[in-house]
Amino acid sequence: IRIAILKETEEGERRVAATPETVGKFIKLGAEVAVEQGAGDGARMSDAAYAEAGAKVLTGPQALDGADIVLAVRAPDPVVLAGAKPGAWIVAMHDPYQRGERVAAYAKAGFEALAMEFMPRITRAQSMDVLSSQSNLSGYKAVIHSADTFGRAFPMMMTAAGTVSPAKVFVMGVGVAGLQAIATAKRLGAQVSATDVRSATKEQIASLGAKPIFVETVEGIEGEGSGGYATEMSDEYKAAQAELVSEHIAKQDIVITTALIPGRPAPKLISDEQIASMKPGSVIYDLAVVQGGNVEGSKPDEPVEKHGVTIIGYSNTAGHLAADASALYSRNLYNFLSAFWDEEAGKPVLDEEIGDAVRLTQGGAIVNERLRGAE
Ligand code: NAD
Repeated sequence: IRIAILKETEEGERRVAATPETVGKFIKLGAEVAVEQGAGDGARMSDAAYAEAGAKVLTGPQALDGADIVLAVRAPDPVVLAGAKPGAWIVAMHDPYQRGERVAAYAKAGFEALAMEFMPRITRAQSMDVLSSQSNLSGYKAVIHSADTFGRAFPMMMTAAGTVSPAKVFVMGVGVAGLQAIATAKRLGAQVSATDVRSATKEQIASLGAKPIFVETVEGIEGEGSGGYATEMSDEYKAAQAELVSEHIAKQDIVITTALIPGRPAPKLISDEQIASMKPGSVIYDLAVVQGGNVEGSKPDEPVEKHGVTIIGYSNTAGHLAADASALYSRNLYNFLSAFWDEEAGKPVLDEEIGDAVRLTQGGAIVNERLRGAE
């Protein structure tokens, strides 16, 4: 079978969906791999390296010609994919909740769209989980970027000229990105605290040496919920959380927000009033900015200054670490397809549990349960 890797077309997207390493592995499985010229440029992976790994390096239309599987970071416009085989698999981040029209276009074009963000959170799929691999890097980068924007140092320094006090960092939302943000801020020497609605995270926060800040008067989410994700909280909880955060946030230098609820806009966690209570020079990094933002007034890719506080949010934080993000994303895709490789068929054959979870379109229709009613 033929696997094609195209150059990403979305503005600012520097990642690539296969590295020379994973190309070599796909070829070992028996696939033929075609890579569009310059596909790896943004992640500093040269055409020569892909060719050396055994790929055919071609123009876009040539690479697509007769492809059975197209690998991408962002799902390309189906119009671009006209040269691929009918029914070809398009394995990518399809952003299905926000880009319903595109999913419909995939159905109409007869492609099988496989959304990597819908990978179920089960043990055997952990190595295929692109949300985790990319969020981890985002959590790291959010702290590094905030530290760079902050006009003061992170660690305590005792010098002959006097003492520099440590920065206070508060992480809101302790999933994969939040945990890495805590660990990174700790490594830089900050005093770190963190909060979440899932009470299971309390122990994780403490085990990283940070201070858990939790609403104690109203029940949060016990256990891991559905696949480990949060849900929308009650008004009573939200009010208690706002009060707790108001008290705490006024004393912080850096706040990193990462809170997401699948299929819903990001919960609003920081109001304008709370921003005004922070010290001038403080920094807020809103990792949820594309999903609507956790912070009032945050804008994608455009730092905003409010009440002397800088609010940052890249729309593609992991993409700013394009080489590592591509390497991990590519391995997620390889782990996914190789786990289902059927030697006799010479191609991957998905099982029901994972196939049904990630498949958005098939045979001209939208088939995913999570999108039912979204057509
Ligand atoms: P996410 O990106 O969906 O959300 C980030 C965090 O925001 C979550 O911890 C969530 O609880 C929190 N949040 C939501 N609403 C909030 C609010 N109003 N206030 C404060 N915090 C709020 O989450 P994620 O990073 O994808 O991880 C969620 C869980 O899934 C974690 O426990 C993670 O370890 C687990 N996980 C499991 C697997 C697996 O088993 N394969 C893979 C990845 C993640």
